[in-house]
Amino acid sequence: MTKEELLGGCDLFLFDLDGTLYLADTPVAGAAEALARLREKGKRVVYLTNNSSKTGTEYEKKLRRLGLWGAGDAVYTSADATAEYLLSHYAKKRTHVLAAEPVREVFRAAGVLLDDAAPEVCVLAYDTTLTFAKMKAFNEFLAGGAVYIATHPDDVCPTDGVPMPDVGSFIALFARASGRTPQVVCGKPYPVMGECVARAFGCPPSRTCMVGDRLHTDIRFGNANGMRTLLVLSGETTRENMKNFPDTPDVILESVAEL
Ligand SMILES: [Mg+2]
Repeated sequence: MTKEELLGGCDLFLFDLDGTLYLADTPVAGAAEALARLREKGKRVVYLTNNSSKTGTEYEKKLRRLGLWGAGDAVYTSADATAEYLLSHYAKKRTHVLAAEPVREVFRAAGVLLDDAAPEVCVLAYDTTLTFAKMKAFNEFLAGGAVYIATHPDDVCPTDGVPMPDVGSFIALFARASGRTPQVVCGKPYPVMGECVARAFGCPPSRTCMVGDRLHTDIRFGNANGMRTLLVLSGETTRENMKNFPDTPDVILESVAEL
């Protein structure tokens, strides 16, 4: 498929953030212009991230500061997808969310019934304010048989230096401690996120393009959910390490600047 066919065939463009639009705190050169060209063509721009340590509002602030945000844009995180999943499958169930306070507020505002004393459902999000006391309580809820849901599967979160432990690493920790693994993981590459995005933005997967730098999350997510996929080589993936993955994107570009 050519870049032109991809552009013509899609109305909704889902953008991964780190490695795709910026690297830590530096925008990818030409990214702002590429996003502006898409908006001029009437395409919807949505920022889609697995990182559940921040809220959509916090991401919007960062995207504005980096000069990437435009009118009509939206952010959708794995925490947003998880909240929607809870409302459609576990509405009115007492739910404990292991997350930073602003993210817990997102669940509360969405209508999830938060309960930290005797929850029926436990959500593992990316809590960068994690303490031993929180870990101990979460482990006890799991051991007690609560429904177990994780926001996303990433083992590590990219930084300028050594990648930080992310939710996937904590899933491994709780598996060792409690013997439990999540019954559902909501974020990329899993279908919960795909279904939620299609509903939230009213666009069928066949007219949606996922743009990202990771083959095993971004591109697998797009392919598994019937979307078009665009791999950019500005982040984790290189032409050399690409060969180690079974996932094939529809189009490959050096960076989003070529869009
Ligand atoms: Mg990325």
